Amino acid sequence: MKREGAGGRRTAPRAAGVKPPTTLATEVTYLKGAGPAVAAKLRALDIERVQDLLFHLPSRYEDRRRIVPLDELKAGEEALVRGKVVAADVRFGGPRRSLRVAIDDGGSGLLLRFFHFNELQKQSFTEGRWVRAFGTVRAGASGLEMVHPEYRVADDPALLPAEPKLTPIYPLVTGITQQRLRSLIQQAMEAAARDPEFNAELPGLAPPDTMTALRVLHEPGGTDLGDLLLERHPAQLRLLREELLAHQLCMRLLRKRTLAQPGARIDNLQQASAMLQEKLPFALTGAQRRVIGEIAHDLASGKPMLRLLQGDVGCGKTVVAAAAMLGSAQAGLQAVLMAPTELLAEQHAHNLARMLGPLGVEVGVLSGRMKKAEKEEAMRRAARGDVKVWVGTHALFQSEVRFAKLGLVVVDEQHRFGVGQRLALRDKGPRGVTPHQLIMSATPIPRTLAQTLYADLDVSVIDELPPGRTPVLTVALSNERRGEVLERIGEVCLAGRQAYWVCTLIEESDQLQAQAAEETYRQLRAELPELRVGLVHGRLKAPEKDAQMRAFQNGGTQLLVATTVIEVGVDVPNASIMIIDNAERLGLAQLHQLRGRVGRGATASQCVLMYQPPLGEGGKARLEVMRTTHDGFKIAQHDLELRGPGELLGRKQTGLVGLKIADPVRDAAQIPPLQKLADQWLNKSPHEARRLIARWVGDAEKYAQV
Ligand code: ADP
Ligand code: MG
Repeated sequence: MKREGAGGRRTAPRAAGVKPPTTLATEVTYLKGAGPAVAAKLRALDIERVQDLLFHLPSRYEDRRRIVPLDELKAGEEALVRGKVVAADVRFGGPRRSLRVAIDDGGSGLLLRFFHFNELQKQSFTEGRWVRAFGTVRAGASGLEMVHPEYRVADDPALLPAEPKLTPIYPLVTGITQQRLRSLIQQAMEAAARDPEFNAELPGLAPPDTMTALRVLHEPGGTDLGDLLLERHPAQLRLLREELLAHQLCMRLLRKRTLAQPGARIDNLQQASAMLQEKLPFALTGAQRRVIGEIAHDLASGKPMLRLLQGDVGCGKTVVAAAAMLGSAQAGLQAVLMAPTELLAEQHAHNLARMLGPLGVEVGVLSGRMKKAEKEEAMRRAARGDVKVWVGTHALFQSEVRFAKLGLVVVDEQHRFGVGQRLALRDKGPRGVTPHQLIMSATPIPRTLAQTLYADLDVSVIDELPPGRTPVLTVALSNERRGEVLERIGEVCLAGRQAYWVCTLIEESDQLQAQAAEETYRQLRAELPELRVGLVHGRLKAPEKDAQMRAFQNGGTQLLVATTVIEVGVDVPNASIMIIDNAERLGLAQLHQLRGRVGRGATASQCVLMYQPPLGEGGKARLEVMRTTHDGFKIAQHDLELRGPGELLGRKQTGLVGLKIADPVRDAAQIPPLQKLADQWLNKSPHEARRLIARWVGDAEKYAQV
């Protein structure tokens, strides 16, 4: 989605020679230190325009404001220290060569150790010079030490003072350093300070104002820093309230404007559903039938449907979507199902064709991976309107495709799909008719919370699993028992079943994730030589990723080593065991999604949550919930209770609705007063409403006619 800047101004293409003054709406390439290569990397952080930098908030802060006397150091703590070099030498003892620098501050001493170093570095540590170092203290063989601290050397300790402010640490991508990002953000802050629109007051929102709040977060210097570290600072609250308000405004407008238009009248859904049932090898559950009834009512109402369908993993949402799409097709309209990945799109296309083919309904696919000619042909057919049921990915659908008579849009696994994306849907229908929307979510949350979060949607819930499912037997095992786990995998695969091994890493970098998965893959191949092992991770090229998934789907490989990319929707019923490495690092929602990949067939399945001892309190509590609970709604409730402060702003959310900094679950209590404010703004301050939406959601122009 293209974002508009604060004032909705368009950026002129980069001209040779003169640069226009940088505004919040300009592309980041206009900033010092951001050429096209840097800009490409920033795109991975969702940063395209100068304004986006403002809201790229630190994920944590380091406290380098006090120089800690060496005799106060404790193992396990981060500290800023300063001391005089008393000795520096290179040791060959132990597994690796290391540079050891002993420092002393008069009270006590500390050892700094470097495994990677160059000659210049070595020489800089001459006896008598001073070092300032920041790092984690640990207990070494000969007393306390810091391994690879960040450091500076000078002849005079006065040149090595503590920092006046907390040091913000930003989420990064490979190839962008903290320093680079800090400098870019500083330039963005200067542009923001110059922009009168950006600094205009927003009625009804408690201080501090936006600019002050951003200063506190990017350049923290004032008081209450403890609160900042705990995420309870007024500056943090201000920004997340702004974002939540912007989304409430956006959703209200979307609902109001959607319902002001007619929707195609489709009044045959019950018959269509009965025809589908005839062809299915199983009976629809009561919950599925009830939800189809709710959808039937919406489709026949003459107004566009705006419905969220919640249901736990495996509850059978796809069949419900198929029924609705069949109804739409039989009414002579087109329906499209959008999936978050190519792989899921193909899987859905396959399933829909199996269900709808026998009823004479053709299913078209629009995949980003199609060859150009193939894709153009598919798009021509979509535009002609003779194929009534389509499947594609979100990305593709948003950009180019036009349909002749689109009546229904189904969005699967919406948690990556925010209100901004939903906006784009309205333009896809024929003139004057808004397509019905069915948004499906496998991240169940309590109904009242859903109604608050998705203010523009009516909520349906499938609260019943198909009969005959055995709950996945879940155990938590220390990774010291890896041997037993390997044996179990061997047995399962020997019996003709398949297994997942999920590698997790706390780092956001998909490069590190990929490395970890590759390492595990090599190791498992060596440990289980009799098995056919596959590997998928986010850094594989799409065709290779698909080849790997397909090999697993058709039984070509028995054990699939994967990163959390397999989280969404993959359906291989023959897979009956899943190992999750370092499970204690993942949140409940993600663990539940992952576990939902097994237990999809008739065989009893297992999930092994491997952890690295010792387990912290939070990790222990989460694993216990997973062991004893299988119902996604109950897990979501536990998630609410277990989440405390300390999950910082700015961390990329795996959560819902495409928010940048607010976490709708954690911050749910903030929403009700903002709903009132949203209504007031829409009546009295439409200009401010547009401004805030442009700031946080984008696409301001779509609201211009409000
Ligand atoms: P999800 O809600 O997670 O998207 P799916 O639609 O993928 O779940 O359904 C999971 C599995 O359950 C599929 O293999 C599907 O065919 C099967 N299924 C769906 N509804 C029923 C039912 N009423 N009885 C038995 N199996 C069902
Ligand atoms: Mg699904």
